[in-house]
Amino acid sequence: MFEKITAAPADPILGLTEEFKKDARPEKINLGVGIYKDESGNTPVLATVKKAEAILLEKETTKSYLSIPGTAEYGLAVQQLLFGADASIISDKRAQTAQAPGGTGALRVAAEFIKRQLGDVKVWISNPTWANHMGVFKAAGLETVQYAYYNAETKDMDFDSALADLANAAPGDIVLLHGCCHNPTGIDPDAAQWQKLAELCVEKQLLPMFDFAYQGFAKGVEEDAQGLRIFAAQCKELLVASSFSKNFGLYNERVGAFTLVAESNELAVTAFSQVKSIARVIYSNPPAHGAAIVTEILNDAALRAEWEQEVADMRDRIQEMRTLFVQTLKDLGVEADFSFIERQNGMFSFSGLNKDQVNRLKEEFGIYIVGSGRISVAGMTKSNMPPLCKGIAAVL
Ligand code: PMP
Repeated sequence: MFEKITAAPADPILGLTEEFKKDARPEKINLGVGIYKDESGNTPVLATVKKAEAILLEKETTKSYLSIPGTAEYGLAVQQLLFGADASIISDKRAQTAQAPGGTGALRVAAEFIKRQLGDVKVWISNPTWANHMGVFKAAGLETVQYAYYNAETKDMDFDSALADLANAAPGDIVLLHGCCHNPTGIDPDAAQWQKLAELCVEKQLLPMFDFAYQGFAKGVEEDAQGLRIFAAQCKELLVASSFSKNFGLYNERVGAFTLVAESNELAVTAFSQVKSIARVIYSNPPAHGAAIVTEILNDAALRAEWEQEVADMRDRIQEMRTLFVQTLKDLGVEADFSFIERQNGMFSFSGLNKDQVNRLKEEFGIYIVGSGRISVAGMTKSNMPPLCKGIAAVL
C-alpha cells in the first residue's frame, strides 16, 4: 500500500539544518534556523531553568495526567505576561488559557478552533511571514490571504499597503499579527501603527490573533506586549498563541499556550469548552515539565528577576551582533547600505541577499541562510563575524 506514496518536500528551514549538520567544513556558519546562540555558538539551558528544575525535582510527587488545558497557575502566569499583572481582562476573567505543545501547537489549536467554531472565515497573514503559518492554517482547512507588510526598497514596513489590504477583509475574518520581532523581517509596527491596526479591526469587525513567540527579544518583556495591550484595550475578542521556546530557551520541551479573550467570563468559558474538546482529540492533555518550569520561574520573585536579566542578556547580545555586522561590512568596504539591520528587532532580518547569493554563500563559504535571504542574527558571534562578512562581501 505504501508504494503509491510520494515523498513530501523537506521543510525549507529544518531541511537546511540537516544539510548544515552534514557539511564537514569546520568554519561553516548556520544563520538558518531561529535558535539563540551564545558567544561560543552554543544554546545552553538558562540558569533559571536549571534552578527551577532542581526545585521541581524536589517538589514533584506524581506523573499523573494534567487536565486538558494544563494547570490554572500556568494559565494565570501566561495571562499576566501577556496583559500585565493588573489587567482587567484577568480580574474580569475574560481570558481563558490552554497550555499547548509549543507555539506551533497553540497555533494549530487556534486554527482548529477558528475552523470549527467560526466557520469559513479567511485568515489574513502578513507577506512575508514565518514559513509554517500557511501550513498550520491550511491543515485545519482554512483559507489564507496575504496582506502587504514589507517594503523591499525602504527595508521598512509598508504600513499603508497593509492597511489598504486589510480594508478588504470581511467581517469575521482573522488578522494574524506577530506580537513582536516579526519573523522574518524583524520590523514591528510602532505604537501609533498598532493603534491604527486595532481601530481597523474594531471598525471592520475582524478578529485579531497574535502569534507571540519572541516576548522579551525586542525591547523588554513588558515593552514587547505593547501592541497586544493596545489591541486588548479596544477589542472585545482576541486570540493569542504564545511560545516559550525562545525566551525560556525551552525549545525541545514544547511549551506554549493558546489564550482566548471574550467579552464576558460566561462567553469565554463557553468558547473555551470547545478549545478543550479540540485539545482532547489531538493530544488529550499537555506535557507537564516545560510549563512547570515556566510557572516556577514566573511565580518566584527572585527567579523572575534573574530570568528577565537572562532575556535581556540574549536581547543585548543579538543587538550587539547587529551593530557589529553593519560595522564589519563597512570596514570591508561594502558600499551597499546594511544599516537597516541595526533598526530591526529580534532574531531575524531580511538581508536582501538573493537566491543566487544565498546559494554561493553555502557552496563556496559554508554559510547557511534561508533562500528568502532571511538571516538569524542570533547565529552570529564575534568570532564568526569576519568570515561571515567576507563571504557576504564576496557574493554581493
Ligand atoms: N511563531 C513564530 C513567528 C515563530 O518564529 C515560531 C518558531 N520559529 C513559532 C511560532 C513556533 O514556536 P514553537 O517552536 O514554540 O512551536
